[in-house]
Amino acid sequence: MALFRKSREITDFQIGNKVYLRGLIEYSNVCAKDCLYCGIRKSNRKQERYSLTDEEVIACAQYAFEQHYGSIVIQAGERSDHIFTARITAILKEIKKLSQGKLGITLSLGEQTLETYQEWFEAGAHRYLLRIESSDPKLFAKIHPHDKGHSFEHRLKSLHDIRKAGFHLGTGVMIGLPFQTLEQMADDLLFLRALDVDMVGMGPYIEHQDTPLYEASDFLLTRQERLDLAFKMIAILRLMMPDINIAAATALQAIDPMGREKALKYGANIIMPNITPNVFRNQYKLYEDKPCTDESPQECTTCLEARIHMIGSKIGYDEWGDSKHFNAHQKYINN
Ligand code: SF4
Repeated sequence: MALFRKSREITDFQIGNKVYLRGLIEYSNVCAKDCLYCGIRKSNRKQERYSLTDEEVIACAQYAFEQHYGSIVIQAGERSDHIFTARITAILKEIKKLSQGKLGITLSLGEQTLETYQEWFEAGAHRYLLRIESSDPKLFAKIHPHDKGHSFEHRLKSLHDIRKAGFHLGTGVMIGLPFQTLEQMADDLLFLRALDVDMVGMGPYIEHQDTPLYEASDFLLTRQERLDLAFKMIAILRLMMPDINIAAATALQAIDPMGREKALKYGANIIMPNITPNVFRNQYKLYEDKPCTDESPQECTTCLEARIHMIGSKIGYDEWGDSKHFNAHQKYINN
């Protein structure tokens, strides 16, 4: 397809053929929120809960460092109590210490106060991903409870606070939600450009049977159609924002075993091998059919390496692989 050829050409020209790794640590599935599409929402009583110990998180980070991953992502359900935020700060400092500052850290820990974002930035994290999920306030309201904790305006404010705190800003959307129109998806892309994001993680919506949104499954496109739309969104976004980082989301692989590799061919340049201890991976399920829940971190690394070589790309070991967009933007601000 001409679109995919063009997006590949632009990726090669702007980013090169390197893929950067973010070792994914799913720190905890305890969440104070109740998003209607999410398997670990607080009202899902069927979900067993876990939180890694500090030692387990540090061990994951140590593993990523020794494997020359360059960066990690710490992801968890949303909590904003002091015990949680202080623990994250302490963990960040410890990880920076063990890697002599060499391991890049992305956080994906939801909406927090500006002060908390600043504290985590100062402790050593430098990228933050908070997905808007849909840039259309009406669709956003259809997939979230109607209360103060799930407000579109607050999500937007948090995105601006993340940038204010100094982070590289990342966001993303779900593709193929029930009731979502093509026009809304096009608007999502325009939203990402207007927000001038540095990184994007977006993928197909995959239903989870223990969630309220599952009841709207009759309104869904087929999974293959949602996947095809996700590939097109990634490719178009690469044309619109040539120098940002785009992640090949795990949800792509839940539909097609080669989903992430195809996304890398169509414009993505980041991949997040899961390095969470195996016993917990099955319990961090935002959606059904999550892939790679049984492989060990070592198996994940070997498998990924082979897959990335297969598509003619190579891994940027020991590199942060930061968004070129952020650096260009900073240069512009400083001049
Ligand atoms: S999407 Fe995030 S904030 Fe919402 S319920 Fe799931 S983990 Fe919690």
